[in-house]
Amino acid sequence: MRYVLDVAVERPLYSLFSYSHYRKLDLGVRVKVPLGRGFSRGWVLKVSRLEEERDLKSIDEVIDDSPPLPSTWLTLAQIISQEYCYPLGLTLKLLFPYDYLPSFGEITLKSVGERFSRLVVGSRLSRLSYYREVIGEFLAAGEKVILLVPQLEDMEDWASKLSFDNTFLWYSEIRRSERKRAWNAAKGEGGALFIGTFSLSLVPMRNLGLVIVDDEGSSYLRRLSLPYIHARDAILLRRRVESFSVILGGAILSAESFNLVKEGWDLEELPGSKPKYRLIDLKRSSKVAFLSQSLFSKIKANLKLGGKSVILLNRKAYASYLKCEECGYIPKCSNCDIPLSLYREEGKLKCPYCGYERSFSDTCFNCGGYFFKLGSPGIESLASLLRRRLGSGVAVWDAETELFDESALIIVGTQRVLQPKIMNGVKLACIALADLSLYKSSYRSEEETLRMIYSLASFSPEELYVQTYVPEHPVFKIFREDSWKEFLEAELDKRKELRYPPFYSLALVSLKGKRELFLMSKLKELKLALEGRAIEVLGPIRRVLPDGKISLSLLLKGKKGELEKELCDLLENGKIKPSKELEIIVDPPEV
Ligand SMILES: [Zn+2]
Ligand SMILES: [Zn+2]
Repeated sequence: MRYVLDVAVERPLYSLFSYSHYRKLDLGVRVKVPLGRGFSRGWVLKVSRLEEERDLKSIDEVIDDSPPLPSTWLTLAQIISQEYCYPLGLTLKLLFPYDYLPSFGEITLKSVGERFSRLVVGSRLSRLSYYREVIGEFLAAGEKVILLVPQLEDMEDWASKLSFDNTFLWYSEIRRSERKRAWNAAKGEGGALFIGTFSLSLVPMRNLGLVIVDDEGSSYLRRLSLPYIHARDAILLRRRVESFSVILGGAILSAESFNLVKEGWDLEELPGSKPKYRLIDLKRSSKVAFLSQSLFSKIKANLKLGGKSVILLNRKAYASYLKCEECGYIPKCSNCDIPLSLYREEGKLKCPYCGYERSFSDTCFNCGGYFFKLGSPGIESLASLLRRRLGSGVAVWDAETELFDESALIIVGTQRVLQPKIMNGVKLACIALADLSLYKSSYRSEEETLRMIYSLASFSPEELYVQTYVPEHPVFKIFREDSWKEFLEAELDKRKELRYPPFYSLALVSLKGKRELFLMSKLKELKLALEGRAIEVLGPIRRVLPDGKISLSLLLKGKKGELEKELCDLLENGKIKPSKELEIIVDPPEV
């Protein structure tokens, strides 16, 4: 007796491949199979008897004795693969990237009581006590709880503040031994709390009772490569194969989550006081180091009293570019042809786009001149101006920061400052220029600006200042009046009208390569394939990439669910052929 195995290979391919084998294998077992001129690993997803003679290759090797993931995870992989038009074999690899972990075994779904779906809004402190109580109830009932957070520092902070006995951390860079320990705890029957970043959202659990996604609107909860899934969405997809309660929490909600109220989710607003808030009109203020005179005095006074101040400025580096005053030369990236940003403390010029860098020692590369006109100032230059006036206790915090002075009382940083290590114990917080995010060309820019203000406030500083050149912008009134629900209602209406998420789906389809004519002919084929489908096609947008390649992109819009279905259909039927030039991003982080 021989069997036919249908296998999803871990390659960017959209159909299953059939192989023969002398033995019946369990579904979800991994095998090594011949593919093209080489071999690939794949997942067995269908087994049937070989009834008639077919010209099939045999599998090369059976990798697992038993399936590494529970069978519900095969269904989950199928759902994710469909929703993100991401190849099934690669999706399975994403769900189980760790070869050193033992098989999880089956999860038998118990019939459980009613599960709740809840949105929780409040300051960090009020969320902490709320979560602690709810988590405690689930753990006492012997169920497992997942708490998802944006940054590593959040994870450590919640773990120590919640301080439950059976707590396990889970993140990408965790040590093998610790991951094994956490995996075995997830396999076990008893209650336990798991705190982690995105990757935890797809870890199987026995007796999962509750998932909390905190700071649910944060962009740091999203994967940074294909498929660009947000942890909140991963949890909602996971719920299609499992039954557990969900809390989406934050200082404010994302428009997507707020829309869930209409689907019957409970909204709970936790009591708490707001910090003293002042909006500063930069047009009417005399300035010291980019700060209004009055704000500067407040920071100075705070420093004298030993109080901590955090200044958020969403621009990295010292200056966005520099230009020689003598010869007019502007140093540019040799890959991207865009001006390099100055990092004065490191003595380097860096490309904000591809990371290219070269050293810089205050002389012009072209004429040897010493005088430069500087582009828009970033956190480093703000910090150095403050140091000149207030002394050395001014630190810079950014994703790239390696040396950080923990004792600093004034911290200048990008949005990365929105985490406990920086914000705990802060007395004065301010946004140096809200206009930077407000006028970013994104359909989320107003929502993100508002989230930034609310997030700063949620760490409960005593005073909160926001500087802007457009104080009349409606976003600022919303925080003062705490009318975020009205704002999100209006925002959702707008998105519905303009056909944006959560009502419509977006996908960015790009062709990347060196030969532009070839790409253009491919683009033509692509457009032809998309014709007559329920998809709105915008573009193409042409870009030059860091490595010198050309990228031609189309932005696709379609009804939620429909766009994904149409795209998958085109890919599975070979109407759109996967190639090394083609990249499809469903729900792209930036549009
Ligand atoms: Zn570059
Ligand atoms: Zn020069």
